[in-house]
Amino acid sequence: MKAIVIGGGVIGLCSAYYLRKSGWDVTVLDNSEVNTNCSYGNLGMIVPSHFVPLASPGIVAQGLRWMLNSKSPFYVRPSFDLNLISWGLKFIKNATAQNVEKAAMPLLQFNLYSKNLFSELNKQPGFDFALENKGILMYYKTEKVAEEESHLAERARQMGVDAAVLNKQQLQELEPETELDVLGAVHYRCDAHLYPNKLMPQLLHYLKTSGVDVQTDNPVKDIISENGRIKKVISSKGEYAADVFVLASGAWLSRLAKLIHLDIPLMAGKGYTLTYDQPQKKLNVPAILCEARVAITPMNGHMRYGGTMEIGAPNKKINLNRVEGIVESVSRYFPDIKLDVPEQKDIWYGFRPCSPDGMPYIGRSSKINNLFIAGGHSMMGLSLGPATGKIIADLANDQKTEVDIKAFDPERYS
Ligand SMILES: Cc1cc2nc3c(=O)[nH]c(=O)nc-3n(C[C@H](O)[C@H](O)[C@H](O)COP(=O)(O)OP(=O)(O)OC[C@H]3O[C@@H](n4cnc5c(N)ncnc54)[C@H](O)[C@@H]3O)c2cc1C
Repeated sequence: MKAIVIGGGVIGLCSAYYLRKSGWDVTVLDNSEVNTNCSYGNLGMIVPSHFVPLASPGIVAQGLRWMLNSKSPFYVRPSFDLNLISWGLKFIKNATAQNVEKAAMPLLQFNLYSKNLFSELNKQPGFDFALENKGILMYYKTEKVAEEESHLAERARQMGVDAAVLNKQQLQELEPETELDVLGAVHYRCDAHLYPNKLMPQLLHYLKTSGVDVQTDNPVKDIISENGRIKKVISSKGEYAADVFVLASGAWLSRLAKLIHLDIPLMAGKGYTLTYDQPQKKLNVPAILCEARVAITPMNGHMRYGGTMEIGAPNKKINLNRVEGIVESVSRYFPDIKLDVPEQKDIWYGFRPCSPDGMPYIGRSSKINNLFIAGGHSMMGLSLGPATGKIIADLANDQKTEVDIKAFDPERYS
């Protein structure tokens, strides 16, 4: 049986991995040199702690305040793009306490499942992607955020998550080499991290050596369907027929879905990371700076800093103000970490595929019988890669999935 996976990011490669493992003949078609997609330069966090979707109460008002500050972590490029307007209205509608409550358990279970699959994968021959189980620390400086984060940690504990509120002295024991200017942090011990720049090449190597045809620089241009089934896809290099097709094209998923008349609302959320190969200071535990919305991961001897969410169509412009915003916020929490703004060529950016309710799109299309959709993972696509890939393979094999995927219905807006 033949499968075509469209997209060579972590979601596409993990889908190809589990399909191949279960006996499928697989081809991956990707638009770019694969190492330029969102799945390489990200912060490598595996996040059962992230059970609150992006669309949550307070985010709209906070987002509007941030729009007034050119160094803030959030920006929507003003535009008359109807897709953006429609996405924004759906986002506002979804930013409610009910949405958060509905999303929390499915997201938590899905992330825990994926974390287990990462542990298994890291033990396979040919895989060693610097997986570490140190959790992440959510640092805060203000009383207001301390209260919000403690409340969230309490909710997390009620859901069975291992989360502890730590004061500055306890934090200093975890980070004895680094000066801290914070009130405290929540330690989500359930979380983990890895080095994506090892994971992705190792996945690619496995796929290529196990017979998967991975074609880079070969974008899909059209999708031909007939009687509720895809017959073939047409790419810049040829035509490809298969028994099943997996749409895993990241921030470009919505555009491809439209070719077969499926409405899967999605916007790109651009973010930047800066990786220092020989850092003067290293943290022991990955960190999120809550007020600044900046994330920091020590990975494989390097230090990676990142953040910002610029909602809009993908573009190649580097907004230096926002990169400076990331750099400046770090020393507000860690006064002895002084970062330089790197040259533009050393600033990485990627496009998070953001759905308007913060939930991924995963499942078999009810309208096109041999199509599986895997995308919209927004801020946690790396974390959810293996779980998504395994679920796609289970569905293609007509097997029961190990977690309930109702909440991720890809046609919930159709
Ligand atoms: C700054 C930043 C930090 C992040 N940190 C984390 C983190 O710590 N933990 C976490 O879990 N997530 C994190 N993320 C999110 C994560 O990186 C993404 O959710 C994830 O990489 C999305 O994977 P994907 O495979 O869906 O998309 P991508 O990795 O973007 O891959 C999609 C692929 O589809 C290809 N494609 C597009 N159109 C076509 C076409 N027509 N034909 C063929 N191929 C096509 C593209 O070229 C691309 O290679 C972060 C993101 C950013 C920006």
